[in-house]
Amino acid sequence: MGEPFYSLSISQLAPLLAKGEVSPVEVTEAVLARIKERDRELNTYITVDETGARAMAKEAEVRLRNGSATPLTGIPLALKDVMVTRGLRTTCASRILENFVPPYDATVCAKLREAGAIFLGKTNMDEFAMGSSTENSAFGPTRNPWNRDCIPGGSSGGSAAAVAADLCISSLGSDTGGSIRLPASLCGVVGLKPTYGRVSRYGLVAYASSLDQIGPITKEVRDAAILLQTIAGHDPKDSTSVEQPVPDYLEQMGREIKGLKIGVPQEFFGGGLDPEVEAAVKAALQTLTDLGGELVEVSLPHTEYAVATYYVLAVAEASSNLARYDGVKYGFRAEGKNLLEMYAQTRAQGFGAEVRRRIMLGTYTLSAGYYEAYYKKASQVRALIRRDFEAAFERCQVIATPVSPTPAFRLGEKVDDPLTMYLVDIFTNSANLGGIPGISVPCGFAAGGLPIGLQLMGPVFGEAELLKVAYAFEQATDFHRRKPPF
Ligand code: GLN
Repeated sequence: MGEPFYSLSISQLAPLLAKGEVSPVEVTEAVLARIKERDRELNTYITVDETGARAMAKEAEVRLRNGSATPLTGIPLALKDVMVTRGLRTTCASRILENFVPPYDATVCAKLREAGAIFLGKTNMDEFAMGSSTENSAFGPTRNPWNRDCIPGGSSGGSAAAVAADLCISSLGSDTGGSIRLPASLCGVVGLKPTYGRVSRYGLVAYASSLDQIGPITKEVRDAAILLQTIAGHDPKDSTSVEQPVPDYLEQMGREIKGLKIGVPQEFFGGGLDPEVEAAVKAALQTLTDLGGELVEVSLPHTEYAVATYYVLAVAEASSNLARYDGVKYGFRAEGKNLLEMYAQTRAQGFGAEVRRRIMLGTYTLSAGYYEAYYKKASQVRALIRRDFEAAFERCQVIATPVSPTPAFRLGEKVDDPLTMYLVDIFTNSANLGGIPGISVPCGFAAGGLPIGLQLMGPVFGEAELLKVAYAFEQATDFHRRKPPF
């Protein structure tokens, strides 16, 4: 194989590792060298753990030799810096956690460690996962490898750009309102947000607890299946993780989609959708039809309220979750004349502008007299959005839509206009409100060479079906094979 090791996927590397044709140490060194050489241009990592990665690679080598390997043994991964890692700094891209070294692993990290994966480091993101462009980071923005003047999408922009630029083999992100799917789409890679409760949130720094989910960002669909297989399942440490057996996701790869009903909601194809995105998604629908799928029109009538509903609920939960950063328990502390001033100064200096904006908004909507008008109302609309999906899934098995209304936009273009930035989430928020899974797969390129993604959503615990359809689509197209000019 002529390609450098860092450019391979999990599915390509695993057999080479198993046969001993390449060692985990060689792969890890290749990726670390590339990070060292090239990440200056993209800023995908906040922390690179060379020492830790090398030690994990040595352990993986032993496991591959003694027969206790898994498909992830020896695979170098990147983790969004919102999952806590034992002994490795976890910042959430915030000054307030700049020096926070967690004493334990998030469940997903523990599971990956157990599987023999290698952690390269922690990736850049919007502070506390609040944003759609990775510009809200205390460590500077990440750039899109397809065009470095553009944003990579957010909030898991570091994780997606690192996969696209071959600065890791795969990564994990988190998705509260689109943060896995959006950057995956804008960076031309695969991103899967699982059903709420499918993957443990233990050790995921909370943003909006009723919406947050961890999921894989990968170079191909099969890799997403492999990672989900490892991280999914009930966790006694997270009471919202569901006790439902984890199916064999890999078994779905290569199955036919003949006769499969694919719902197309007209609410996702209205005004504001970039014509090139619309054309690419429509072409993708044609490909799915050619593969034997049957398009059915479905309606999700409450879609127009999704962004407003999401931003009321998410900021309310955030204001409560972020109350714990007070200068006493974690990392950063500012000086103050007394306790109250120390709290106020720590939070004023430690949080960035967008995080402060959301804490204020959330505190306002939860305060006496306003709760009924905002939080309660939004919860009611959320139930309607969930019911829309339930009704639609009586008529189809998956729903196909765009992920992002436009291809990647320029750095700085929307960062001073929060409401415009919130609208970027228009096609992704509703899956989180409904608790359902969604995947983004590469489905085309705009004239400027920027990638476009197709979103497939399924009913709760419909990941197997989503992966099957996404894989069939991927195999019929070659968008995922293109690499950025980087
Ligand atoms: N852009 C959305 C927000 O800022 C979603 C972020 C996410 O999914 N973490 O809240």
